[in-house]
Order: sequence, then C-alpha cells, then structure tokens
Amino acid sequence: MAKRDYYEVLGVPRTASEDEIKSAYRRLARQYHPDVAKENPKQAEEKFKEISEAYEVLADTSKRQRYDQLGFSGVESEFGPAGFTWQNFTHVQDLEDLLGASPIFQQFFGGFGSGFGGLGGRASGRGGDVELAVRLPLAAAVDGARPTVEVPRETDCPDCRGTGAKDGTALEVCPECRGQGQVRRVQSRGYTQMITIGPCPRCGGSGKRILERCATCGGSGRRRSVERIEVGVPPGVEDGAVLRVPGHGLAGRAGGRPGDLFVQVSFEPSPSIHREGEAAFAELRVPLATAVFGGEVTVPTVDGSAVLKVPAGTQPETQFRLRGKGFPPPGGGRRGDEIVTLHVEIPRTLSSRERDLLREALAPAAPAAGRRESLFRRKSS
Ligand SMILES: [Zn+2]
Ligand SMILES: [Zn+2]
Repeated sequence: MAKRDYYEVLGVPRTASEDEIKSAYRRLARQYHPDVAKENPKQAEEKFKEISEAYEVLADTSKRQRYDQLGFSGVESEFGPAGFTWQNFTHVQDLEDLLGASPIFQQFFGGFGSGFGGLGGRASGRGGDVELAVRLPLAAAVDGARPTVEVPRETDCPDCRGTGAKDGTALEVCPECRGQGQVRRVQSRGYTQMITIGPCPRCGGSGKRILERCATCGGSGRRRSVERIEVGVPPGVEDGAVLRVPGHGLAGRAGGRPGDLFVQVSFEPSPSIHREGEAAFAELRVPLATAVFGGEVTVPTVDGSAVLKVPAGTQPETQFRLRGKGFPPPGGGRRGDEIVTLHVEIPRTLSSRERDLLREALAPAAPAAGRRESLFRRKSS
C-alpha cells in the first residue's frame, strides 16, 4: 500500500488546528467501530493503523513540524525499522475513552500485552509478558554474555488439557453466552448507540461451564513451573537496557500466542573502570620516579590489563589514550578508547640524604630577570 499524505489520511487541510485534527481522528476511529470492523477486520486494522499513524504525527507539535518540513523522512526515526506499529501509538487512552475496551481493539493491541493498560490482550488469549533483571560483570559489555534466567511458566494442565474440568470432559456449554464466549452490550450515549462486545462474565470467555473441577489444578486449567532460558546479551549493551525475547513470556490461553520475556541488563560497577558510552576511564597512581624518568606501568582495562609506556617528564594528571580498549557501540563493532589519568605520587617522607639530594637537584632556580623583561616588551609592542 503506497503511503498517503497524513493530512489526506485524516481528511484535514494542512492548516488544521489541533482540535480539528483530533476530531477528524475521532470521527474516523468511530467508523472502524468493532461492529463495523467485524466484517473485514484485516482491512479495518490496516485502515485504522493508517489513521492512527497520521494522528500520532499530526497531534504532536514537534513531529508535525518535522513532517511539514521534511515529509515522511522527518518522522521515520520515531518508528521502528518496519515503520509505524501499535507500540509507537501514544494515544491509546483516547481510543479507550472513545470506543471502550472491545475485543477487536484488544486484538489490534494484543501484540504487546501489558504495556497498554486496559487494552492488554488477556481476552485474545495471548500470554502475559514477563520482566526479569540480570546483573553482569562489566566485561560482558565488551564480549556479550549468555546468562541463564528462570522464567515462571504457566502451561495447560495436562490432566484436564487446560479446561479446568475433571478429565477435560466435565463441561457444558455456557448458558449465558451459548458457547460464544462473548456478550454484546448496547449503551446509548445521546444520539449514539455504542455496541461493544466483551468477554462473557459467566464463563470468562471460554464459552464453557465446568461441572466438576479438575483436582490437579483446582479448576484453573493451568500448571505452574519454571523454565530456564539462556538470554543472548550482545556486546555493547548499555547499562539498564531492556532486551526483548519474543515468545518466552507466559503461555497463551486456549491456543493464544505466548507473551514476551523482557530482560533488563545492568552491570556490576568495576572498582577500576568507569564507563561513559563507548569510552572507558581509569585512574592510575604512579611513583614520582616513574613520572620523572619514564617507565612502563600496568593499567587495568575492562577485560584485563594493558601495558602503558610513561615517557620521562610526564606531568601529574596527564591523560593517556589506549585505543580500542573501551566499549563497543550497541550491537557490536569497533571498540572505543580507554582514557587513563595518571596521578603522580609525591613521597610523604624522605630520609635526610634523599632530602638533601632532591633539594640540590630540584631547588627552584632564581627567575631570569632579562627573559621576563623581553617577554614584557614583546607583549606591549
Ligand atoms: Zn487441570
Ligand atoms: Zn459464557
């Protein structure tokens, strides 16, 4: 489908006010009311997505400005590589107010569960998302890691095949919804009649009524367990980043898709390395003699150590750059640098002989008067 101009999609002029854009979107969203959309849900979703993308951009002053100036390329960075998805939509609350939480819209939003409050995909049968955290040594930010996490699992009870009824057979068709699992509700608001379809309150959407409960699961139809999953953490992950492992959340109900697993990664602070993006920072104390005469020192790096050549006459707080000893960018690639700051240790106590020798060698020379004058003259001329 060729991408249509956002103003054209919402049917408003380029000069439309915020209110005009909002009411155009609400009017169009009502057109794709669940009862209408039911006839051709696939086409309705396409259409609904198109108007929602247009609204997402035009309802936001800065996004609209960039779109006005640069067209689609001005706003494409707002969305993922595949373009606009429901995850990019920030006005779900408007929709919920407008349309109620109906099963059709739950299907649209079901793809990412809990993030969207009332529109989460419970009724669509999709399993819940699971969020976990892992803590890794800082070196894992360079090499990546494969930590194993334990994910709580909920699967169909094998004894009742997920029905919750004894042997999976002690069931009858729900008398409330006659097995549909859904009930229609008609509400009148002024001139508008809102017809919403929701899960049946009696059977919770299963369409069946349990006559005798399964003893194994107590009628829930679910079995809890723990699954161990290896999570691939790629090199260059930032502290606090959240990785998504699709399909490893809770199992879906009645054939619904499983939820996703979200793993938040944090790194143990290192006593010697401080990270800022791709750069590593280290501090090193060296004896006065090393700074004065030069020498080699061992510097801690994020994945071990490196040898640094300190030239003779190095000043306190001098910074050295170790190329490629920092962190890779997110997704991997050429590593940044490590910046080492040298602190020169001045001896606190000296023997009297050392003091004499140092005094003789280091006593500040009397300033040369002639040179100072010449400087002064040059400056003033
Ligand atoms: Zn059971
Ligand atoms: Zn029912």
